Amino acid sequence: MSITLLIHEGSTAPYAPVTRMGGLPLAPAGTAWPVCATCSGHLQFIAQLVLEEARGTVAVFMCANDPGLCEEWSTTAGGNRAFLFPAGGLIPLPRPNGEAVLELGAVRGVERVEMPGQDYWDAAPAWAARAGRSTGEVLGQLGGNPYWLQNDETPDCPGCEQPMAFTAQLEEGPESRTAPNFGSGSAYVFTCEPCRRAAFGWQC
Ligand SMILES: [Zn+2]
Ligand SMILES: [Zn+2]
Repeated sequence: MSITLLIHEGSTAPYAPVTRMGGLPLAPAGTAWPVCATCSGHLQFIAQLVLEEARGTVAVFMCANDPGLCEEWSTTAGGNRAFLFPAGGLIPLPRPNGEAVLELGAVRGVERVEMPGQDYWDAAPAWAARAGRSTGEVLGQLGGNPYWLQNDETPDCPGCEQPMAFTAQLEEGPESRTAPNFGSGSAYVFTCEPCRRAAFGWQC
């Protein structure tokens, strides 16, 4: 068993077709920019995860219009949205009405690093010690098991009503100034590949 850590690897282009945090979303043609179920404002694009073996590309969005007031931590309340798009054929998602959208202050490219062990919360500091870098440069993990800060909140798929598969854990990253707002906690991404659905939430 090993843990696949996502390590901050410097900056990348806003529309790079790679796993990254920040920048701007790629999506199938005709996709509308998602809005918040509570405030109806446009969501902020947070992360893109390119799944291996062409299983798809996950795009994560979250409301940053009224921090804390739109239940943006919830996997079901609609204050965030996650999509499981196809692996290919994605284009830059047009800005809504051509208007500006809130972007994170950095576009973080990601290096995948395999660490032996079974526990993400052990693997992150072990990597930092080995690499002589900060644990803040661990941007999360891909696959494996979620490290819950609170109770297990694995959502059921709205399509098939089965528990969704844990796909990634995300962290705020090395700098609060440019970070997504997970309340200083961790975020969790889920997918149901048969139903082509994704969900997102965070805990602190
Ligand atoms: Zn909102
Ligand atoms: Zn499903």
